Amino acid sequence: MPMKPTKQTPIYQDALAYLEAARSKGLSFNMARGKPSPEQLDLAAPLLETLHASSDFIDAQGQDVRNYGSLTGIPEARALFAGLLGVGQDNVIIYGNSSLHAMYEQISRSMTHGVLGEKPWSQLAEVKWLCPVPGYDRHFAILEYFGIKMINVPLLEDGPDMDFVEKAIEDPTVKGIWCVPHYSNPTGITYSDAVVKRLAALSPKAKDFRIYWDNAYAIHHLYKEGRGELLNIYDEAKKLGNEDILYLFVSTSKISFPGAGVAAFACSTANLEQVKRQMGISTIGYDKINQLRHVKYFGSLDGLQAHIDRLADILRPKFELVDRILTENLSGIDGVRWTKPRGGYFISLEVEGKAKEVVSKCKQCGVILTPAGATYPYGKDPNNSNIRIAPTYPSLQELELACRILCAAIIVEMAEG
Ligand code: PLP
Repeated sequence: MPMKPTKQTPIYQDALAYLEAARSKGLSFNMARGKPSPEQLDLAAPLLETLHASSDFIDAQGQDVRNYGSLTGIPEARALFAGLLGVGQDNVIIYGNSSLHAMYEQISRSMTHGVLGEKPWSQLAEVKWLCPVPGYDRHFAILEYFGIKMINVPLLEDGPDMDFVEKAIEDPTVKGIWCVPHYSNPTGITYSDAVVKRLAALSPKAKDFRIYWDNAYAIHHLYKEGRGELLNIYDEAKKLGNEDILYLFVSTSKISFPGAGVAAFACSTANLEQVKRQMGISTIGYDKINQLRHVKYFGSLDGLQAHIDRLADILRPKFELVDRILTENLSGIDGVRWTKPRGGYFISLEVEGKAKEVVSKCKQCGVILTPAGATYPYGKDPNNSNIRIAPTYPSLQELELACRILCAAIIVEMAEG
């Protein structure tokens, strides 16, 4: 039976006292962003020791990576990321350390120069975009920056509401959709085969419509068992001759280092030729020393997965701790529910009608959460309900305290109505 705490229930009095005590302690925990902990970063530190003698710097093509060259990346890095992206090596461009930057670049190029001969978006009266919600705030920030109108799309348990998407793309001003298909940010869901197939088969009115397939958590499993594999969307689209519709992104930010990892972008040959022409104006090439370091250290897709599995041993207890504390304190409370992801970086918590108030109460007690509303375009959560929990950075001890404060804040807010 769902229960609603009131000011008369003992848990309200306990929660109030807990918050009062926490406030006086002067705590300071930041759970606003999905950042790896120092312990995770230390695991990848030997990567920095892989290149020493002059001969170590020679890539598979015989080129010295310390010098100019290789606009699209060194061949062995393109091969490694081709595996991660599920495409052929020739379809890959290696970027710098940020896949978000690659996404921004694609939208920026579409604004100024258009996509494969279509009119630049900056010359159109209106450009719209499909945003499965809740979603990733930095995706929304890029669109807002360029004045692209965002349309909320319900994100279901198996991916975006495809009936909604298929109807929406009949509008020629709709030019794209964000997809975080594996362990999505923040709900942790993975797109079903049926959804991937429907996306691969989309036939939008706008020829320059693109699916921005941001597979940031491609292999970021927390558990060895029951790994839900994601269907290869590029293969599915290619079978239908529809591969031009895809832009795919990935990075090692949550594998090696967010500050010094490697990002990659993949697309069809036609798209790639256009990107290369524009990219070659802006750079002679990205950091090839870092590309080679990553290849030498991880070796293969299996090597990357083995490293993630070691990281998962650090992360799993944190996710399980959050779930245990939420279960102990919030089970059965009407309007409160949360996800139990099997991978990725976030837990998504719904506190119907009270997200802003809860986040603000936590802040008064020294616990900084992602701002309420951030998981929706324009920062507007229509139900004031979603709170993103990022459990990776704090220590277990800090996380436990922060979660207890969060639970107390929810109980007080729900009781005070
Ligand atoms: N995409 C998603 C869905 C993310 O959650 C994040 C980081 O949290 C990024 C992209 C950022 O990736 P990068 O560090 O490669 O720019």
